[in-house]
Amino acid sequence: MLGSGVAGLCVATLLAEHGESIEVISDDDCRPASHWAGGMLAPWCEAESAPAEVIAWGQHAAAWWAKRIDGVAHNGTLVIAPPRDSQELIRFASMTSGHQWITPSEIEPALENRFARGLFFAGEAHLDPRVAMQQLRHNLQQADVKFHNGKPSGQIIDCRGIHAADAQPELRAVRGEMLILHSDEVHLSRPVRLLHPRFPCYLVPRASGRFMLGATMVESHDDSPISARAMMELLSAAYTLHPALAEARVLESGTGLRPAYRHNLPEVRYEQGIFSLNGLYRHGFLLAPIMAEKLLQLLTQETM
Ligand SMILES: Cc1cc2nc3c(=O)[nH]c(=O)nc-3n(C[C@H](O)[C@H](O)[C@H](O)COP(=O)(O)OP(=O)(O)OC[C@H]3O[C@@H](n4cnc5c(N)ncnc54)[C@H](O)[C@@H]3O)c2cc1C
Repeated sequence: MLGSGVAGLCVATLLAEHGESIEVISDDDCRPASHWAGGMLAPWCEAESAPAEVIAWGQHAAAWWAKRIDGVAHNGTLVIAPPRDSQELIRFASMTSGHQWITPSEIEPALENRFARGLFFAGEAHLDPRVAMQQLRHNLQQADVKFHNGKPSGQIIDCRGIHAADAQPELRAVRGEMLILHSDEVHLSRPVRLLHPRFPCYLVPRASGRFMLGATMVESHDDSPISARAMMELLSAAYTLHPALAEARVLESGTGLRPAYRHNLPEVRYEQGIFSLNGLYRHGFLLAPIMAEKLLQLLTQETM
């Protein structure tokens, strides 16, 4: 297995569960895109811009994760918009399903009466990507799977994310910038998406008063640190969400490159003797479980 981002870890997990002997090779010098992810398992919200497959394939992700790791929160997603952008909310509702109109403060009291209406997607979930990956890695190590950065041997499965563009030039990178905040004043139980015509953003609660604030979407292979503009826009959106976030501490900023194919859907492939899973785009945690199962089917088919 090449790669220990979410794709590599999900594939390795299924292979280990099927009793296969595997080793995971990882380039520990490069931070995987998975490290910077929000961890939202939000197939219905994603339908705003994603193909129908994302809803169909993503629906079972939360159950897949909950079977293997702790800390999957099945608390849904709240979508809101500032009063001046209330048309955005109506547009979002018309592009998606699986939601109900609510008064946001009924489910997130911290928002008080700042937002008159919101959309609640009760079937969605979220997790902390770093904790989830650590747990999958731990489970694999318990099952005697070795992690190293040496040469691969045996059947290669390429899960290198954007780094596989050397073998698959059609892969493109979509830059995502994010921040980790800490606040003891704001308490949220679920991801909150704030709609905006130019700069939509979301805040995902994590343990110990931390929040992941994301994310930009830039067609670029540049993984340099977050831009001043992205940081300003993200922080200003956070402030719109809750003024107390002006006093939040910025613990971390990061940039991840989402690997994407032309149609923004992931694919499993078998080419020139190498299997691969890639193109997870903005749905790594949502779609890696089902894509790992598809890869397992392809593997059985090709190697029988
Ligand atoms: C800011 C941001 C927010 C996101 N939020 C969400 C979200 O809320 N929900 C969601 O589902 N998705 C989200 N995503 C998308 C998700 O993060 C990606 O789809 C996913 O991380 C892609 O995973 P991957 O395993 O294919 O690639 P990566 O995570 O990039 O992993 C690639 C792996 O390959 C390894 N590697 C590289 N070169 C080599 C080599 N030569 N040999 C061996 N190994 C190598 C790397 O070390 C790494 O382990 C977000 C992405 C970003 C950037």
